[in-house]
Amino acid sequence: MEYKRLGKSGLQVSRLSLGSWLTFGKQIEDNIAEDLMKIAYDAGVNFFDNAEAYAGGKSEEVMGSILKKMGWRRDSYSVSSKVFFGADGGEGNLKPTQKGLNRKHVTEACHQALKRLQVDYLDLYFCHRPDKDTPIEETVWAMHNLIQQGKVLYWGTSEWSAQEIMEAHMVARQYNLIGPTMEQPQYNMMVRDKVESEFSRVYDTVGLGTTVWSPLASGLLTGKYNNESPEDTRFKFESLDWLKDSTLVEEKIEKVRQLTALAKELDLSMPILALAWCLKNDNVSTVILGASKTSQLEENLKAVDATSKLTSEVMENIETILDNKPE
Ligand code: NDP
Repeated sequence: MEYKRLGKSGLQVSRLSLGSWLTFGKQIEDNIAEDLMKIAYDAGVNFFDNAEAYAGGKSEEVMGSILKKMGWRRDSYSVSSKVFFGADGGEGNLKPTQKGLNRKHVTEACHQALKRLQVDYLDLYFCHRPDKDTPIEETVWAMHNLIQQGKVLYWGTSEWSAQEIMEAHMVARQYNLIGPTMEQPQYNMMVRDKVESEFSRVYDTVGLGTTVWSPLASGLLTGKYNNESPEDTRFKFESLDWLKDSTLVEEKIEKVRQLTALAKELDLSMPILALAWCLKNDNVSTVILGASKTSQLEENLKAVDATSKLTSEVMENIETILDNKPE
């Protein structure tokens, strides 16, 4: 495994990390979740990603029990949570104070995540989305206070705009507070704008780190949808029809067919090609893997070694197929 500083911070994160969205507490049994974490940890993964909203809090409970059972030294891994959506499992029963980035919810959600994960502090704590109903100043203060209290080590954002991230830094500078260290954007061969274009200046100005999500575009970039529609996948959940409809689009599938042929020429599998492509971007601190089966994770963890096959010529060939390079 390779490690990289999370932006300008001194925190070393494994280039591949493991997330639990849709899987832990939902799609997979707890014993599979345990196997996944063991495989990841043994391969050198040192960051496990979570959120209050994943499976309505169950994902954090499952991860917390596994961390406790494994008994890994607390200083050997980082674990995250995210705040914004609340933890009701999508049932829509949340009271107004149970969501958002106001001081009350940011603080209470942190306490709840600590309990569910059974840890004394969160290494990373993300604002899961921007909150138009809370001044950024209030959120920055809330995060700073949690850091001062030792409950959080680094805070960051997810799917914020470059402007919102810079605003948070300006507030932090104004009051001598700790600003956001990292952003968690979607990044894969199909979604490139934020990481490759919008954040270009933010990397230099504030030393932004990135923990990127859905590197395989929910499985599309494994090539398994090229010619058929396998049934045992996340798209079996009706509640995810919105994701299925925006992912399994013929134009995208056709590009994956061509990429799969290119991967074959390189003697790589399609998922490895797609993950190694993400890793080639130096502004990506860590690529968060998702997996519903141990065999998927075992395969995906080989991506670090495959980056050497992505020469500039190969990257150009990929670019020609993708034809979506941001301005
Ligand atoms: P991916 O796009 O990599 O999708 C992972 C899924 O693809 C797996 O669960 C599996 O689903 C399928 N898959 C993975 N590898 C293989 C393989 N080798 N062969 C066949 N199928 C495979 O990542 P996720 O969308 O899961 O996101 C990763 C993490 O990012 C999340 O767990 C979460 O921590 C974070 N995230 C953050 C978000 C945010 O807003 N901040 C939003 C979304 C995710 P299946 O078997 O069901 O097909």
